[in-house]
Amino acid sequence: MYTSSTALRRAWSQRLRRYKPKGGSAPRRRKVNPQDTSWFLQAARACASHRHKVPDTDAQMYVDRADRAFEGMPARLVSRHVKRCVCVFVETAAGPRALNGKLDLRRETVPRTRTAWMRQAVQRQIDVFRAAARRDGPRCHLCHKSLQGKMTHVDHGVGEYSLKDVARRFGETRTPAEMTTGGKAVRRQWQRFHKKNARLALACVACNLANK
Ligand SMILES: [Zn+2]
Repeated sequence: MYTSSTALRRAWSQRLRRYKPKGGSAPRRRKVNPQDTSWFLQAARACASHRHKVPDTDAQMYVDRADRAFEGMPARLVSRHVKRCVCVFVETAAGPRALNGKLDLRRETVPRTRTAWMRQAVQRQIDVFRAAARRDGPRCHLCHKSLQGKMTHVDHGVGEYSLKDVARRFGETRTPAEMTTGGKAVRRQWQRFHKKNARLALACVACNLANK
C-alpha cells in the first residue's frame, strides 16, 4: 500500500486527525468508521512492529487519548508526553490495545534487536495467557485488586522468572549469530523454552510498572 515509512506515517496521522478530540480536557472516545478501520488494520499488518498487536480478522476500533489506557494509575507514572498522545485502539480477545503512529515498514522481516524478536516470538503465548486469565475473575497478583474491565499487563515476575532472565538462560545455549538472526528453528526452541520456564501472572498497570 505504501513504499516508504514516512508516507505511511503521514497517511496514518492524517486519518487519525479526523477523529482527534477537539478542545476540552476529557474528550470521549470516538468509534472509527468501517472504511477507516480496514485502512488502519491493513497499515498495522504491513509493519512488523504493529502486526502482532492486531487480530487477523475484522475488529472494532476507536480513537481515544492514550492516557485513558492508564486509568487508575498514579499520575507520576504517566509521562506528560503520553497524556498528550492520541492513539487508535483496537479491540482484541485480550482487551483493547493502543496502536501508536511509529509505523516502520523496514522492520518487516527481522525485528531490530534481539530483545524485540524474543518478545515478539512469545507474544502469542502472552496473549493466550491473558485471555484465559481474564475470563475468570481476574485479580492483580501483587495488590490483589480486581482487574475486571480494567487494563491489564502480563507480568513475568522478577529474578529468575523475569523475561530478561529466562531469555538470558536460553541465550547461554546458543551462539550470538543464532540469536541475532532468530532463524525459524531457534525461534521455535525459544518458544518452547519460554513456555516451560516462564511464570506468567496478571498485574494491574501500576503494579507492573512499579515492579520493573
Ligand atoms: Zn496491582
